[in-house]
This record gives sequence, structure tokens and C-alpha cells, in this order.
Amino acid sequence: MARKFFVGGNWKCNGTSEEVKKIVSTLNDAQVASADVVDVVVSPPFVFLPLVKSLLRPDFHVAAQNCWVKKGGAYTGEISAEMLLNLDIPWVILGHSERRLLLGESNEFVGDKVAYALSKGLKVIACVGETLEQRESGATVEVVAAQTKAIAERISDWTNVVLAYEPVWAIGTGKVATPAQAQEVHYELRKWLQINVSVEVAESTRIIYGGSVNGANCKELAAQPDVDGFLVGGASLKPEFVDIINSAT
Ligand code: PEP
Repeated sequence: MARKFFVGGNWKCNGTSEEVKKIVSTLNDAQVASADVVDVVVSPPFVFLPLVKSLLRPDFHVAAQNCWVKKGGAYTGEISAEMLLNLDIPWVILGHSERRLLLGESNEFVGDKVAYALSKGLKVIACVGETLEQRESGATVEVVAAQTKAIAERISDWTNVVLAYEPVWAIGTGKVATPAQAQEVHYELRKWLQINVSVEVAESTRIIYGGSVNGANCKELAAQPDVDGFLVGGASLKPEFVDIINSAT
């Protein structure tokens, strides 16, 4: 089954409204393949979501960078899935390593968040990935499998999930995984889905790579059979994001 290429831009905690307008304007002017060929989803900070949504071309979509684990209420500082839906935000990134490591989000907590967001109708970019220490100790597959298992145990439908493999050692470091390293883990993740979920889910779920992807390295990574796109941090704030969107065509 052909899996549609997916490119996400994670703007993290960056930008002013003027800078955001400039990025959107670059994206709106870009020549890219049609939405039948590539899904493009950009993820500004919460406060800029309405602005970006109102200015962005209609064939690109927006994602929040997080949402709360259940219905909103007395959770100061949090944003609920319901609020995102109220603003017509279709996607959310969950389980990013910066939240797992800096804010202590456990596999189970991320799994609960994914399940709740999906149950409300959001589409989810669910992130998994190992630290350098875990890679060096040979635990990469075990770590990403445990992260994926905590999600799989809590959901029954993978249609609206994109799985992002983001080795922590490659995020924001300029140290990109080699195409062979990325392919190896993507292959293992797909095999895990095949054995533990179903053949259909393994074949249809997009597994995208994140970690220092840029305009120069994206083509070779995109050519790997199990790499179905990218989640891009730093380079998604720059014009080269357009080259990344076009890397599979
Ligand atoms: C990310 O934060 O999801 C990411 C992949 O960042 P970068 O591209 O900057 O490594």
C-alpha cells in the first residue's frame, strides 16, 4: 500500500507574530506537489495557531505541539483537545522528546494523551526515540518498542496516527541519523506494528523521521523504503523547509 508522504514542521517555542507571518508567506508562495502527494502540517506555538490558520494556504494544515491528557478543567497552563477542535485545529504533536525529558512525560502518560486526543477526533503525530546513552547500550529498538506499546495498548484505530521516530541525540544537534540508521529503526517499528497490532496497520501507518533534517540531507533519507516523511524542527523555520516538502518528488 502506498503511504502518502508527510512533512511536519515543529516550530517549537520560537517566533514573534511578525516572524510567523514571514514564514507563512514563504510557505504560501512555495511551489510544492499537490495535497494528493504530500501532507504538510506546521506546528506553531499555541498562541500563534489562530493567526497561522487564518493566513496559511488551504492545502497545508496546522498542528498544536501538545494537549492535555483529558477533558479541560482546573489544569492551569494547559490546553485541551476540545479547545483545539473548537479552533478547528486538526493535528497535535504528542510525546515529543523535549516534553518527555524536560517535563517528565512517561510512556503511559503519552499513551493516555494519544488515546484521548484521538477519541476527540484529533489526528496525532506521536513521537518516539532513544537517547544517545540508550543507543550506545544497544537498547534502541527496545526503547522505541516500549514507547509504541504504551500507545498501542490504549488505541484501537491507527488511521489518524503518524508515528515520528526522533532519536533524541539527533534533535537540534546537527547530528542527523544516517539513512541506514533511520531505515533500520523504521523497519523495526513497522515490524513491531505488524506483530503486535496488524499487518494492515503496519503497512498503512506513516513512520516519519525527525532529527536535524535539512534541505541537504532530506533526499537521501526520503529514499529509504520505510521513511514516509519527516518531522522537522530548526529547518522548518527556514525557506529550506520547502525543499524538504519536495524531497520525495
Ligand atoms: C524536532 O524537534 O522534532 C526536531 C526534529 O528538531 P530538529 O529538526 O531541529 O532536529
